[in-house]
Amino acid sequence: MTTARATGGVSFWWADLGLPTPDDQLPGDAEADVVIVGAGYTGLWTAYYLAELLPDADIRVVEQRFAGYGASGRNGGWLSASVTGGLDNYARTHPRADVARFQVAMNDAVDEVVRVTQRHGIDADISKGGTLLVARNAAQEGRARAFAAMGERWPEIGVRLLSRAESDQRVRVAQARAAVWEPHCARIHPAKLARGLAATVRERGVRIHEGTTVRTIAPGRVETDRGTLRARHVLRATEGFTAGLAGERRTWVPMNSSMIVTDPLPDTVWAEIGWGSDDTLEDFAHVYSYAQRTADGRIAIGGRGNPYRFGSRTDLDGGIPDRTVEHLWEVLTGWFPMIRDVPVAHAWSGVLGVPRNWRATLGYDAATGQGWAGGYVGTGVTAANLAGRTLADLVAGERTDRTTLPWVDQRARRWEPEPMRWLGIHGLYRAYGLADRIEARGARRTSRIAVVANRISGRD
Ligand SMILES: Cc1cc2nc3c(=O)[nH]c(=O)nc-3n(C[C@H](O)[C@H](O)[C@H](O)COP(=O)(O)OP(=O)(O)OC[C@H]3O[C@@H](n4cnc5c(N)ncnc54)[C@H](O)[C@@H]3O)c2cc1C
Repeated sequence: MTTARATGGVSFWWADLGLPTPDDQLPGDAEADVVIVGAGYTGLWTAYYLAELLPDADIRVVEQRFAGYGASGRNGGWLSASVTGGLDNYARTHPRADVARFQVAMNDAVDEVVRVTQRHGIDADISKGGTLLVARNAAQEGRARAFAAMGERWPEIGVRLLSRAESDQRVRVAQARAAVWEPHCARIHPAKLARGLAATVRERGVRIHEGTTVRTIAPGRVETDRGTLRARHVLRATEGFTAGLAGERRTWVPMNSSMIVTDPLPDTVWAEIGWGSDDTLEDFAHVYSYAQRTADGRIAIGGRGNPYRFGSRTDLDGGIPDRTVEHLWEVLTGWFPMIRDVPVAHAWSGVLGVPRNWRATLGYDAATGQGWAGGYVGTGVTAANLAGRTLADLVAGERTDRTTLPWVDQRARRWEPEPMRWLGIHGLYRAYGLADRIEARGARRTSRIAVVANRISGRD
């Protein structure tokens, strides 16, 4: 049984920097122009662009713990242009040109994050390599080829199909058969980005009331444990924690994602693995895993583990079950058998928000002054930048190319009540896990079980 030297503690990324002490708690009842609930990337990017568009506005962000406490300080550090839900999915409901524009906007958002961090001297270990997605059995290879074919229909993604030899030249993953590579992804240190963004928006006059929990969001006000904050515009940026707000229990389910990080690998091991670039790395399993090579020479890998807790409960400070650590270690050492003796330094988990249609969304109702953004289903690091920027446009009353993108004002139906919700999500992930095992034993194409699961869940 593999164990991690440290678990929870919010995340390795925060342990690396030192956990912040909550600052500037709301002192009591107050009034502002804009209130944003949640100081993750979504809330912080919204505040950043609003401060640019409305320099004289009194903008407040209210955060239950500290900026970057949620998924933004715990994620895998993939600054990726991936469109949550997929382009083909959007093309069923929107004109092709708009869907293509969405992808281009996501590509630009990757570069926008790089630009803004450079402009403000935020050191977040950012390095743009691309993404390598590796197929390790016949069924996965079929999906890699289908993905590459989809890339031909959508050249905006920039997908290239790689042979085994070409894949090995980028990273030598055991049993790789083929891969696809995409250019629009950078590796980041998530907590450094959150910390740097929070400092930048504070410098621009935005107040972040940390250690202040919002109980209810209503038109014109938020009720917190420290008083009522009134404002013309009230924006919800609570992502995987949204179910904890009054009236929002079934809006987005909080899905868990978990991570482990190794100690720094010796140079000899890196030479064997041959991971010379800053490509992020993923496999084609249904219960997929994603990894990065950190700036200080570790591997951080994430995956689903225990996907969902009954009643939409969220985690406390990143705790993670032993069996999830073991699962991620098995995946990682399956990819790289030569690292079996390298210790696991830290393991943690976090929550992300999943709407019933698996599509991210943002919106703003000018009549009530209420807005929201999130539901990124695990691909929100870049999307939060674009969402925050778009929400700021909408609040400021600016009509831009961003405000007409297909994800603006998407409404999904609510999730089923318990116990259907728990049964459905756990059943789904069991099905995907079973499909992965069948495919690993030599199935030639994608398991029917996964095909049916995709249909039932509404993901295909
Ligand atoms: C383990 C893990 C790995 C991931 N890896 C990747 C990846 O590599 N690439 C990628 O694109 N995405 C990844 N994601 C998803 C990505 O991190 C998120 O989509 C993104 O960070 C969402 O940002 P956010 O600001 O919307 O949410 P969060 O960062 O979760 O921020 C929400 C904030 O709201 C606060 N809050 C919530 N409720 C209240 C309340 N009632 N009162 C006050 N404050 C409140 C929370 O404390 C939190 O700080 C990962 C997620 C996890 C958990």
